[in-house]
Amino acid sequence: ARAIVERDLAAHPEGRWLDPHLATTLVSSYGLRVAESVTVDGPESAAEAAALVGLPAVLKAWGPDLVHKSDVGGVRLGLRTPEEVRRAYREMDGRIGPAMRGGIVQRMAADGVEMIVGGVAHETFGPLVMAGLGGIAADLLADRAFRVPPIGRAEAESMLGELRCAPLLTGYRGRPPVDAGSLEDQIVRVGRLMDDLPEVAELDLNPVIVTPSGAVAVDVRVRLA
Ligand code: ADP
Ligand code: MG
Repeated sequence: ARAIVERDLAAHPEGRWLDPHLATTLVSSYGLRVAESVTVDGPESAAEAAALVGLPAVLKAWGPDLVHKSDVGGVRLGLRTPEEVRRAYREMDGRIGPAMRGGIVQRMAADGVEMIVGGVAHETFGPLVMAGLGGIAADLLADRAFRVPPIGRAEAESMLGELRCAPLLTGYRGRPPVDAGSLEDQIVRVGRLMDDLPEVAELDLNPVIVTPSGAVAVDVRVRLA
């Protein structure tokens, strides 16, 4: 993790959003579960990657200036065959244009509750960890809890308890309860990362998809400064 941070800041002293594979490697080294992601550079490699990670697959546009991929139609879910992935890549590439430098292929995660786990290096408070409701309603509802790390399991649990969306985790309207413990574990680990690496200005796992059998981040963003 240190090596990734130091190398990237040496090459880009002003700081920047890490390339997705570096961001994924960084958070994975803290034991955070991230959906297997393959970086691709064209329709053929996208189709091959889909066969590798498993179908149905997800294709995402990648580019240094593409921050909110869904806003530009840069996320295609539930692609069932390599041919569908190939076509989706061509279509995305044609529509988004040069801002799309490549793509990311993942396997579709199982249905679950979409949450956010994040970190920010605050000017006065130092590192802060955030947990909240994720997905498309995240910014709209801003249902979030913050803590200063280090954060233990009990504290992570109390963060989730503060959220208005907490009932979604314990089984809402006939849905099965999800593995909140795995989500708490992710919060604790993000706390460790933020404590260890002050160069991480901003970290976003949005969403972390929480199912009855675990929690997996499918979108990882890390900004160094
Ligand atoms: P962005 O935040 O840049 O728009 P995301 O990677 O977060 O793009 O994808 C947008 C949405 O697509 C997510 O909130 C989630 O609902 C869905 N999604 C993304 N990746 C996966 C995946 N691997 N499996 C299932 N759903 C996914
Ligand atoms: Mg996202």
